[in-house]
Amino acid sequence: MSQTQTQSVAACWACGVPQEQAQHFCTNCGKVQPTQALDYFSFFALPRKLVLDTGALEKQFYTLSRKLHPDRFAARPQQEQELALAQSSLLNDAYRALKGPVARTEYLLSLEGVELEEQSRKATDSAREAGQQKQQIVPPDLLEEVFELNMQLEEMRMAKKMGDDDPQLKQDLESARQNFESQLAAAQSEMEELWTAWDKAVDNGDAAGREAAKQKMVALLNRRSYVRNLVRDVNEVLS
Ligand SMILES: [Zn+2]
Repeated sequence: MSQTQTQSVAACWACGVPQEQAQHFCTNCGKVQPTQALDYFSFFALPRKLVLDTGALEKQFYTLSRKLHPDRFAARPQQEQELALAQSSLLNDAYRALKGPVARTEYLLSLEGVELEEQSRKATDSAREAGQQKQQIVPPDLLEEVFELNMQLEEMRMAKKMGDDDPQLKQDLESARQNFESQLAAAQSEMEELWTAWDKAVDNGDAAGREAAKQKMVALLNRRSYVRNLVRDVNEVLS
């Protein structure tokens, strides 16, 4: 069910010449085409892979942005103005989803049917409001650190409430923050290794390799979002 291999073509609304799926403008008459229900990779005629030349993507984005700019369509019939606007808004969404490393990974995983904890944050927040336990799962290797940190955070909140100054506690929390921030940096390079594994599995048609890379990316992103929340909690208390 690979979309890049589908042969389905649409005819240009203006001249009737059949178009490849991902065309933004007719290859024959140059008229802007209606948007298609495509994923964002296909919008840029890219395979569903994660190592991406973001410089080339940016160039493609600006070129298309200029070609779709409303000023260019001001004197055109309403229908064409609307088509350009629709293409332009899809272009912005697609670029936003693919340009950032984390956003791109999350987007690809969502295409693969994964719902990340980060994305279900709303559900978690409303559960918390209802007085239930925070649902985000603590990564097992962090259990001890998190336990310790939560004690320190609690102590610090108490100290603040009482108007006490505890320089040692403050220093401990500072170093906890640094520790978690360096874990975030490490997660970044780990993620890039997983991109390579994913891309290789895609190239080789290796379903098991794809699945393995996918599972590891999910675990890594969940861990990353967990650690980011810890940093946020520490910042809140230290501010
Ligand atoms: Zn045409």
